[in-house]
Parts: sequence; structure tokens; C-alpha cells
Amino acid sequence: MYLRRILPNLTKKCNVLYLNLVQQQQHVHLHYVEKNYNPSQILKNVLQYSNDSLLKCWNCNFMYKSDLFCSKCKVLQEPPENITFFDLMGIPASYDVKVTEIQNKYKELQKQLHPDKFGAKSNKEKELSEILSSLVNKAYSTLSHPLKRGLYMLELNNITISEETDNINAEFLMEIMEKNEEIDDAADDEEKIKKLVEKNGAVLNDLITQVADAFRQNDIKRAELLLIRMKYYDTINNRLKKLKHDLGIVE
Ligand SMILES: [Zn+2]
Repeated sequence: MYLRRILPNLTKKCNVLYLNLVQQQQHVHLHYVEKNYNPSQILKNVLQYSNDSLLKCWNCNFMYKSDLFCSKCKVLQEPPENITFFDLMGIPASYDVKVTEIQNKYKELQKQLHPDKFGAKSNKEKELSEILSSLVNKAYSTLSHPLKRGLYMLELNNITISEETDNINAEFLMEIMEKNEEIDDAADDEEKIKKLVEKNGAVLNDLITQVADAFRQNDIKRAELLLIRMKYYDTINNRLKKLKHDLGIVE
């Protein structure tokens, strides 16, 4: 089935995804102009789950407006090809996601896709529920994490950050090396580690604010440069988290 194929390849389809995204944004705009609805209401409706195109139900051939289930026979549907994580979660494609909103959407979707609901259903529906459920998990873990969300948005703009350090300035690499040395020196000192966690958290929060601003301005280049920095600070954050865990620090 094509979904099995597209799932691991999803990230490689940035180009199409981006075009898809642009089309949807245009669509939202058109809706607003044509019908003069409240724009936030339209955004919510149009982006609910997926793109706005009509699809044919695999079970009853009814042309349904894309949604998890066919509105006629109520059978679970395949997600449209190239659906973005934002559309899947039914939230606007913006860096400024609200954590509570995304958590609620996640819970709502996983409730609808819970295996218990498909015990008596056809094998095709069972299989679809598993595929969708893992896609929803991936969307949730990506969009709820500030670094992963940013990198995903870069992918939607056809940009992948390489693992190479060639194009990163020496000064910044020095800064990161120093941070790591500070951690080395503090490794078994609870108080020092707590302070470093706090300091690193503040740097990350500041970067999150700046990345959000860059995406809001549609300054993708700036977002990319900030996300490269964020990547290093996120690695430090993970290292500190592990140290905290090993030292048994609970907060
Ligand atoms: Zn149907």
C-alpha cells in the first residue's frame, strides 16, 4: 500500500509539501475574500485534519470532504498523500503552536484511532488505524518539540541542515566547546548542574522566541541560522538532562 511507502519518505517530499501548504494558504485567503467569514473560524475549518480537496471513500465511493472518517459510511480513510503534520493535527502551519492545543488534538486523534475501536472492523480499517496512529505520534513528537518543529518547517521550505560543521563560525563552535567543558567540570556537582540547566534553558527560550519571530516574518534564512544554534544548545540540554537523571536530581 502506498502509505507504507510514503511514511518513511514523508520528509523527502518537502517540495510537494510546501506547494501543498502554499495552495492551502491561498485557499484560506480565497475563502475569506469570497464569503467574508471570520478568518480564524475559516482557518480552523479548512485546516481541520487535512487539505480541503474532495476525496473518494474507498469503501462506499462517496465523495467526502477530507476527514478521518467518511461522512457517509463512517469508515476510516487514508490520509491524503503529502499531508503535512500541521494538517494532520488540524492546526495552522505556524511555529507558534500552543502546547495545550496540540496536546488536546493529539489526545482527540488517538482516542478516535484507538485499537479498541477497530476490534470488530475490517482488516483494511485496522491497518489504516495503525498507520494513522503512528503518523499522528510522529506529528505530535515533531510539532511539540521546538527544535524538531523548526527543522520540520525548514524541510517544508526545502531546507535540510547538514551535519557538517564546515559552515559554522569558529567563534560559535568555541562557545559550545566551552559550555561542554563547563559541564565536564561540574559533572558531579548537583548545584552547579542545576545552575547550568537554568542557564542553558534561558538560552534555548531566547532562541525559541527568535525563531518564532523569524518564521513570523517569513525570514527563512534567519530561522535556519538560529535553528543551527538551537541544535547545539538542544544537544547540551539533552546532556544536562542525562546528568540530572544520573545524579537523581528531581524538580
Ligand atoms: Zn464511505
